[in-house]
Amino acid sequence: MKMRRDAARIGRVVPGGFMKKIGVTAFLLLLGVIPARGQTKLSVKWEELTAEDFRTAIQQSKGTCLLPFGILEKHGPHLPLGTDLLNVRYAALHAAEQEFAVVFPEYYFGQIFEAKHEPGTVAYSVELQLKLLQETTDEMARNGCKKIVIVNGHGGNEHLLPYFAQEQMASPKDYVVYVLDGERSRPGGPAKKSTGIDYHAGENETSNTLYTHPELTHIDRAKRESGADQKRQNLPEFLYTGIWWYARFPEHYSGDGSVATKELGEWNVHGWIFTIVEAIRAVKTDDASPKIQNEFYEKSKHPLDTRQ
Ligand SMILES: [Zn+2]
Repeated sequence: MKMRRDAARIGRVVPGGFMKKIGVTAFLLLLGVIPARGQTKLSVKWEELTAEDFRTAIQQSKGTCLLPFGILEKHGPHLPLGTDLLNVRYAALHAAEQEFAVVFPEYYFGQIFEAKHEPGTVAYSVELQLKLLQETTDEMARNGCKKIVIVNGHGGNEHLLPYFAQEQMASPKDYVVYVLDGERSRPGGPAKKSTGIDYHAGENETSNTLYTHPELTHIDRAKRESGADQKRQNLPEFLYTGIWWYARFPEHYSGDGSVATKELGEWNVHGWIFTIVEAIRAVKTDDASPKIQNEFYEKSKHPLDTRQ
């Protein structure tokens, strides 16, 4: 706003020959009739916006914000500890560039107890995970993010995040939490070379990182450990234990990262970006969820009055 007033003031005092010298476009730019590129192209990154631009960004995004969720954990012998964080942010930021949304800064405070035996793992308590996530979304909402899409980049969060979304029903909220649990595979694309299980730091994830952060991918080290399924538990599939992961993949590596290619990574990551874009669009036009939530919160205050 300040910029525009200054420009208008300059416009009024320009001498007659001035317009000829600078041209019509530049003159209109000065007047603020045509907004300069730097003024309209807002960063999608929360931390890069000024307070004034943040207000505009929230309006432009229709209150839709992304919370890309990563983790710090070992990724085989060849990928960085922050692989999930780096890749989820790459996908989320590129998606928000295509369909505008405000993207929350680095967030990596999730469930990762199963990798506590490996160096560099940061595993916060359950209480803190839930409390920090709640206070983060509360603060996002207080700042206008009334629709929050948690973009999950870490498999170990697959129970935490739906549980967190369910927890939002416990007491009234003026915002909706949406969980996008990384659907990244789609039919077609380059053929995979490995045939076995590929859960963690294997062909897919290594390819993705080779595409997003080639300088951090040490593919020559991928064979130093085995990512094969050790099958050390003999239980029927319908029985769950917390130790299942460690029992099968004690090196915190599942698959074969050595056969990764940039082409497969490009295919996967673009599919992921497309999914996030779709999610942002769906969320922006979702008028139903906030309404239904409010109806639910209201009824839940006096359940005995509820009629069929
Ligand atoms: Zn990962």
